[in-house]
Amino acid sequence: MEAISKDVVIIGAGSGGLVLAILLAKKGFKVAIFERLSCLASPPRGEIVQPGSLEILDRLGLLTALLKEDIYRFEKVHFYKVGGNVACKDARLCTVNYGALPPPYNYALVVLPERIQNLLLEEAIKQPNIEIFWESNFQSIVWAYGKPDKIVGAQVEHQGKTIVVNAPVIIGNDGWQSSVRLAFHIKANIHRYPNGYLAMMVDRPAGFDGHMKYYIGKGVVLAVFPVSDKQLFLLLMLSVESFDLHRKRGIKALKEDILSVHPDIRDYLKTSFAHLHSFDVATFMKCFRVKCDRWVVDGGVLMGDSAHAMNPHTASGRNSAMADAVVLAEVLENCFRYKDFSRQALGEYEKLRRPYVDYLQSLGDQMVWVWESGWSPLVWARDRIFRSLDKNPKRLEKILMTMAGVKRTPFTSFDIARSFLDV
Ligand SMILES: Cc1cc2nc3c(=O)[nH]c(=O)nc-3n(C[C@H](O)[C@H](O)[C@H](O)COP(=O)(O)OP(=O)(O)OC[C@H]3O[C@@H](n4cnc5c(N)ncnc54)[C@H](O)[C@@H]3O)c2cc1C
Repeated sequence: MEAISKDVVIIGAGSGGLVLAILLAKKGFKVAIFERLSCLASPPRGEIVQPGSLEILDRLGLLTALLKEDIYRFEKVHFYKVGGNVACKDARLCTVNYGALPPPYNYALVVLPERIQNLLLEEAIKQPNIEIFWESNFQSIVWAYGKPDKIVGAQVEHQGKTIVVNAPVIIGNDGWQSSVRLAFHIKANIHRYPNGYLAMMVDRPAGFDGHMKYYIGKGVVLAVFPVSDKQLFLLLMLSVESFDLHRKRGIKALKEDILSVHPDIRDYLKTSFAHLHSFDVATFMKCFRVKCDRWVVDGGVLMGDSAHAMNPHTASGRNSAMADAVVLAEVLENCFRYKDFSRQALGEYEKLRRPYVDYLQSLGDQMVWVWESGWSPLVWARDRIFRSLDKNPKRLEKILMTMAGVKRTPFTSFDIARSFLDV
């Protein structure tokens, strides 16, 4: 058994963990990251990088390089009404405008998450204070002898060897199924949403106008995002139960389902779809929400999805993990200053971050209820509210500011009622 000592141990090399490691290393702390995989592996999907994350990447000196890559930068997201096969052609419900946010971060990006991950990894590797151990599976927490509540390190299995890392604080950044959370004895309510998303990447057609689009109908949600000059990303809501049925129906039926969402889609996706002959181009992603009774214990912290996975409608999971890292780095610096890693001292992080994240999680749940509904009266009310928001952009900005990571601006029942009545 090998034993090493570090200031901070991070389990899981997700975006939040990498940002935290870089910030701490720059402050002079020695950090070990243990990652179960042999290299970074990101899901094959386009993800929205919100303005809050642009600011974090800029602060780390990484935004300029990211903007030079083949990514998609946008200000507007258009929402259209779906009418099955009979959708009317000009059925825009509303447009969300990032351009209305305070500059300079008044835009957002769609990227393959590997771009962000690789950028952060390259920066982490440059830091002499960071050591990354690949193929390292977290096994258990090491508790102080005779003090079963005091964490003094973690035990990890690294390429067949056991490593014990002594550190005053262990960070769990190991995703929604977190084993660190279990080891901390933190209770979590894990909810699997009834609907997941079928994701696929297709060639970006020449006639595509370049705008990001959501098509929303009665029990139908389809997102069409460019991710680069050459690729378009499609995300189709499907119930978890129906996925096998769709697979059995095959790629031809799936293509027809997507093309029939809106006449425009049939126009611009026809050629891209001509090259798709196998259902294997599609990946199904289930969605989870994690709600923990607390995020910190004496000597231990959870961040990102391990603490608070949320519905992807908010497009804020990765962004929230990175925002966690910024707050946690400051709190940890204070903990080192006063040599205090108690639940109270670390709890400052939870106090600062939790209200925002709890709000995002409930916003995500409201979006599930309203966007995904197949119940005609609710669909009618939703379309009416969307149209009203389009005419009252200030009200729409409340939701945007929160999702963008700029400021928590609750969209109240009063806002909903006014939007419903104000068409
Ligand atoms: C369909 C879909 C669309 C989404 N779109 C967006 C979006 O547009 N914008 C956005 O911000 N978010 C989006 N998200 C959410 C986002 O992807 C997640 O919130 C984010 O990846 C969470 O990051 P994380 O670092 O907390 O966890 P993860 O990315 O899951 O990273 C956890 C890491 O821990 C490692 N690990 C796990 N167990 C162990 C162990 N025992 N030992 C060592 N290492 C371990 C894993 O290998 C992994 O590398 C979306 C999610 C879905 C499902």
